[in-house]
Amino acid sequence: MINIRTPQEIAKIRKSSSLVARALQKVREAIRPGVTTAELDRIAEETIRRGGGVPAFKGYRGFPASLCVSVNEEVVHGIPGRRRLKEGDIVSLDLGVLMDGYYGDAAITVPVGEVSELAKRLLQVTEEALYRGIEKARAGNRLFDISHAIQRWVEAAGFSVVRDFVGHGIGRALHEEPQVPNFGPPNQGPRLDVGMVLAIEPMVNTGTWRVRVLENGWTVVTADGGLSAHFEHTVAITEGGPEILSLP
Ligand code: MG
Repeated sequence: MINIRTPQEIAKIRKSSSLVARALQKVREAIRPGVTTAELDRIAEETIRRGGGVPAFKGYRGFPASLCVSVNEEVVHGIPGRRRLKEGDIVSLDLGVLMDGYYGDAAITVPVGEVSELAKRLLQVTEEALYRGIEKARAGNRLFDISHAIQRWVEAAGFSVVRDFVGHGIGRALHEEPQVPNFGPPNQGPRLDVGMVLAIEPMVNTGTWRVRVLENGWTVVTADGGLSAHFEHTVAITEGGPEILSLP
């Protein structure tokens, strides 16, 4: 069952989501060669707590930090620590907030200094894929219209979409029904309706879509060592179309 949220509930999800966006903006401003990933986590957590929220990922199934920091071939769920970013890296930042009983979730991938042409194109294609998916988040469409729009855009660019991790409904829980895959046939899946809130989050690889999990039990990396990028917004389906809630 896909939850239908009232405008009052959506307002709460908007508050949480916009705090996520503000914290991501703060972290982005701190990105430079030499900064540790632990420092980025500290900035994220501090911004969230000052804003009256709780970091949603910290302790979630035992995850040890507030911010997921995934560098280069790392896809998602990278654990912040002593690693220092260096010129040419790309870094994916995924963050969630719980406030007043409702969750928000968003992710961006950021270049560190000057990056390769391939990395630049990967970031552009992945971010655009997110917006192509969001555009399909409309009452009357079907869920996999979102999935299909993302997959088509990514594969036309010569990249691949991760299969093992997907987007999700969000609201009173961080992960609710439905799963929102970044691949699939158009015109299938549940009918979308006003009041649904979805976290849409394409994860895109330069090489194979296959991934594996490192021995720490968390960090997901590309199977072939290729680069990966991740962009995510929390989106409400309204009478007027999709509304991105995770804006600063
Ligand atoms: Mg998410």
